[in-house]
Amino acid sequence: MDAVPAAIAEVLQRTIDTGGTLCVLTGAGMSAESGIPTFRGTHDSLWSRFDPMRLATADAWREDPALVWGWYRWRMQAVRDAQPHAGHRALAALARRVPLSLVTQNVDDLHERAGSIVDAHVHGGLFALRCFACGHAHTALDDYMEGVQRVEPMRCTACGDRIRPGVVWFGEALPDDAWTSAVDAAERCTLMLVVGTSGLVYPAAGLPALARRKGATVVEINPEPTALSTEMDLVWLATAAQALPLLVG
Ligand code: NAD
Repeated sequence: MDAVPAAIAEVLQRTIDTGGTLCVLTGAGMSAESGIPTFRGTHDSLWSRFDPMRLATADAWREDPALVWGWYRWRMQAVRDAQPHAGHRALAALARRVPLSLVTQNVDDLHERAGSIVDAHVHGGLFALRCFACGHAHTALDDYMEGVQRVEPMRCTACGDRIRPGVVWFGEALPDDAWTSAVDAAERCTLMLVVGTSGLVYPAAGLPALARRKGATVVEINPEPTALSTEMDLVWLATAAQALPLLVG
């Protein structure tokens, strides 16, 4: 692949020329080429190897916090070991050319480490540790670990309960501020790029339809067709690291 499909190049150029705004919605596929497994879609994806109900719910935490904390510390280590790829860097470069809001479902920090400002982490962040009981914020750990092991979570200095990762678990509400920013970005944009998401997790998966109802052109970048493909104006079957650098030339 060596060129942007003509229709996509045209709509991006029109957005820049007419003073439009871009919203980029990213999902786990955005980080796949940095070596962070997606949740779904491949034999090594996270939910094909682990049971989400034992690891990513508040009930799982109450039942076995050491198991859940050990799994998240392993994921934190995988993110610490990973580097942003050319697609992450391309989005940072694109934001210097056109007003761009970046909304991510990812809980890693690869966009920030590539130089982007993330407007909304709609599913929270791995390193935004907080107390399970009182919500007191705690700073990230330095001593991460290889492999999944049981680890007793640290204790909150404010109330003594256990400290949890700052991600949104199944069944939990999205952070209000992040969701408000995401909706605002979707409603205001003239072009939305939807990169590396299966489109199965709501309400985030509803943002492209919202943008389109408000008049934006919506473009999907993903190597596979997804649940959202039929709602798109344009679909580019490509990976994030292949496609995004081509958009900035
Ligand atoms: P998902 O795992 O459900 O879907 C991944 C999508 O990425 C698929 O459509 C797949 O075809 C696509 N994909 C795979 N490789 C790609 C590539 N190289 N370039 C572009 N696309 C590629 O992920 P999702 O839709 O984001 O939804 C599920 C949840 O997963 C989110 O809530 C997110 O918080 C969480 N998650 C985050 C991370 C992370 O932070 N890196 C990792 C795993 C899961």
